Amino acid sequence: MGERNDRELLLISACLFGLDTNYKGENKRLEKLEELLKDYILIPVCPEQLGGLETPRVSAEIETGKIGNDVLEGKARVMREDGKDVTENFVRGAQQTLTICKILGIKKALLKERSPSCGVNVIYDGTFSRKLKKGEGVTTALLRQHSVEVFSEEELDKLLRC
Ligand code: SF4
Repeated sequence: MGERNDRELLLISACLFGLDTNYKGENKRLEKLEELLKDYILIPVCPEQLGGLETPRVSAEIETGKIGNDVLEGKARVMREDGKDVTENFVRGAQQTLTICKILGIKKALLKERSPSCGVNVIYDGTFSRKLKKGEGVTTALLRQHSVEVFSEEELDKLLRC
């Protein structure tokens, strides 16, 4: 397929890779996945599954006015739409994802925008009304704390070499 022989490792949200991991049991496979594979060895992960959540699952959002770092600092919760607190699952999933990065020496990640785990620049605002707020998800926040550079699928061009 014409891949380079100096391909860098890139962590990628499993749903962007084409795995049916999202809360509906569906994927959001990238159109340019093949192009990305020429430049990178992709390591797919789903932090919410790694945190012990089932698939499909009830959707969850970070509380209104709060973002991923607040969750990591214990100042905010991640709540399911039905009112169940799933904060612990989200924090565990972020930690497990970081463990993968540390073991493999991964320095870059391509994560799914708007997700309460993987969101990079914006996430849903906590009201379950599809409104967005500025900020990142719990996994993105933890990876950034450990110097992993995180991009969203809307910034894919920054990762492609040509
Ligand atoms: S947690 Fe991340 S990888 Fe998993 S389905 Fe949600 S956006 Fe995709």
